[in-house]
Amino acid sequence: MNGPDARVALPGPGRARLWQQRVTPGSARSCTSLLSREERLRAAAMTDAARARFTVARGVLRGVLGSGLGLRPDRVPLRVTCTRCGASDHGPVRLELPGVGLALSLAHSDELAAVTVAHGERGVGVDVEAGTSIGDLGTLARRVFAPADRDRWQTLPAARARPTVLAAWACGEAYAKATGLGLGTALAGVGARLDGVGRLVVAGPRELDGWSVRTVPARLSGYAAAVATRHEVRLSGGDFEHTGTECANGGAAALSGQATAHGG
Ligand SMILES: [Zn+2]
Repeated sequence: MNGPDARVALPGPGRARLWQQRVTPGSARSCTSLLSREERLRAAAMTDAARARFTVARGVLRGVLGSGLGLRPDRVPLRVTCTRCGASDHGPVRLELPGVGLALSLAHSDELAAVTVAHGERGVGVDVEAGTSIGDLGTLARRVFAPADRDRWQTLPAARARPTVLAAWACGEAYAKATGLGLGTALAGVGARLDGVGRLVVAGPRELDGWSVRTVPARLSGYAAAVATRHEVRLSGGDFEHTGTECANGGAAALSGQATAHGG
């Protein structure tokens, strides 16, 4: 068990924290014990790869919240409700604990899972995207960039073209998750474009009704990650070690110089 000193510090007012964890058979195995019974049943019906991603993302979330709140991870009262159809097998995850106002967001792609927790109930969104999981880059670019920026994007060297379009996509997904907007609307709102030297720029809080969307360093190379928070919220990387298992060991990303995608 974690002693009081080993407790995860959950974000206080005006703060959000991000945890990233590599998805491996080992991390999935050790995260299994953190899941609720219902989640374990759900996971059992998935393919191996999907089960590993689900287990690590939910496991890290439950581990972080359980440690920070002093609860058994499998007993942390999480609820999932789709904001569109009301189903409970997909959609945003909420903490249902009276008197505790925390906003949560989860993401996973291929071998990387991420969890963001923000103080308050105004929402937060995280997204990670694996370079290996995208199909045709040009198709993706057509969805994230307006024509002029797409032309500029096409002039980027191949080594920059892929991470740039992935990052733009991740920004749209993170904003969609934070706000509940549909992905198309969110991508249009984020309005990804390229500046004069080909760096990605996205809309700022003035255009996004007080939301701030930023790219953050992904813990694995070849991945993009983005987080959307209320503008005034400060984001930091979290350290989480679930003593006794290998789940989420050292899951923090360095977040210095995170705001590469930020402009107006
Ligand atoms: Zn639904």
